[in-house]
Amino acid sequence: MKDLNLDSALVSFDPATGERIGQAKIFTPEEVKEVVSRSRKAFLKWRTTSFEERKRLIMRAREIILAEIDEIAELISKESGKPFAEAISMEIVPVLDLMQYFARKTKKLLKPRKIQIGIFSLLGRSSKIIYEPYGVIAIIPAWNYPFSIPLGEATMALMAGNTVVIKPSELTPLTGLKIGEIFQKAGADEDLVQIVTGDGATGAALVESLPDKIMFTGSVATGKKIAEIAARNLTPFVLELGGKDPMIVFKDANLDIAASAAVWGAFCNTGQNCSSVERLYVEEEVAEKFINLVVEKTKKLKQGNGLESDVSVTVLSSEKQLSIVKSHVEAFRKEGARILIGGNHEGLFFEPTVIVDVKNSMLPMQEETFGPTLPIATFKTEEEAIRLANESNFGLTASVWTSDLKKGKRVAEKIQAGTVCINEVLYTHGIAQTPWGGMKLSGQGRTHGLEGLMELVQPKHIHLNRFSILPDIWWMPYSETAIKTFKALAKHFASGSMLKASLALPQIVRRLKELLANK
Ligand code: NDP
Repeated sequence: MKDLNLDSALVSFDPATGERIGQAKIFTPEEVKEVVSRSRKAFLKWRTTSFEERKRLIMRAREIILAEIDEIAELISKESGKPFAEAISMEIVPVLDLMQYFARKTKKLLKPRKIQIGIFSLLGRSSKIIYEPYGVIAIIPAWNYPFSIPLGEATMALMAGNTVVIKPSELTPLTGLKIGEIFQKAGADEDLVQIVTGDGATGAALVESLPDKIMFTGSVATGKKIAEIAARNLTPFVLELGGKDPMIVFKDANLDIAASAAVWGAFCNTGQNCSSVERLYVEEEVAEKFINLVVEKTKKLKQGNGLESDVSVTVLSSEKQLSIVKSHVEAFRKEGARILIGGNHEGLFFEPTVIVDVKNSMLPMQEETFGPTLPIATFKTEEEAIRLANESNFGLTASVWTSDLKKGKRVAEKIQAGTVCINEVLYTHGIAQTPWGGMKLSGQGRTHGLEGLMELVQPKHIHLNRFSILPDIWWMPYSETAIKTFKALAKHFASGSMLKASLALPQIVRRLKELLANK
């Protein structure tokens, strides 16, 4: 990174201890523009590199991460507050897998594709699609997965031939800078992956700096602001926004396993996941047994500083998060729900909280909480479970728990969400091959998987005419013969049947003769 001017600095704190971890520069809008312009210059060179060269860079970066795994996990854990264990299991492991997958497979996934053009091939034409990088990809992630989300998106963008500018959250600037450092150590050109630290204004400046595409992860409110500016500039974007993900537990599910899944799904990363279990619906007949299991398992969780290896639940990232979680728990209480365990906090350490007698009409069942709360409601029928799960403005992920796989698939197909898991919960962001993204207010576009890779390239259609010695029959000048030919085209050629299309041939030949005679 160039010219670090620390006149105005961003201070990074450990939310568990309040300890000051370090500081980072706040980039001004002018500096952000300059970074984007350097990125665009770097793109001209990077776009010409081979997939093998790109793969070598990504694999070297992987090696650096593996060599520094403890240092990186500690930084992620301290800056975001998450358990050290989760910094490894939920950030480093999945992103290392993503890096090797896209390093090895992008060439194949972006292989030029021949298009079957049906009857037009009779006229000696052929078509193919090649995939071109966009240019400068602006990545604006949230603080909750400050390493794996921006690094994963950067890897895919680079493999597709783009350059990258990342604006990390103001809560996790050092983790963002670490990503830049890893690429530098791996031997990347200094402008290939640039990090612009700062706050929301720096993010806005990046959006205004006319990147070629924006990959945003964050709240619905900020997503809307970005979409507005991007629309004004016609900058394409992907929005990965919030969730209120439902988990449906049928009476025939393995209740012990489902209860463990619910506890992990609701409380990992202290509930600060876009795909946390934020609403649980259990079939009435087994509700009491299931809820007891959930409460017993919750009691066993140790809460504390994430750097202690036996700590499972840690700290909320900020006062802002704390006030949302508190207000949601309070709203549940006021509206008649019962708190079976948790509900209190000491500083930013909010206890894992299980809430029952919950209804969808309660306000916190409609808004994202983003904290360690597990509200549980009951249902009587499959239809009711589906209706309750779909009664939300969000649609990121969902899960269905049952031993009847037919029922599981039937229900999964009816739930409105970008990902629905059967007998699994939350984790598919960790599978590089599967697309990630939401329906409804949970976002637009996809990251990960082939669908995510396609967001980082522009399809270019190349069309070839092998009969170029002949004029096209639809060219000028027009005539009676032309109109008759066009009618034959409408009746036969456009029918989609090769056999019928051949009926237009005599008229096509007459038209060709006319055009050739007119030369
Ligand atoms: P925010 O929307 O507040 O922030 C997200 C990012 O946008 C941060 O880097 C932030 O910077 C930046 N930003 C803030 N204002 C602007 C602006 N005007 N223009 C451009 N960038 C801006 O979200 P949170 O950080 O609170 O993240 C939590 C949200 O993220 C939750 O809703 C969660 O569900 C969602 N999320 C979604 C995921 C998904 O895959 N769908 C994954 C992870 C989280 P700064 O922090 O410096 O203000």
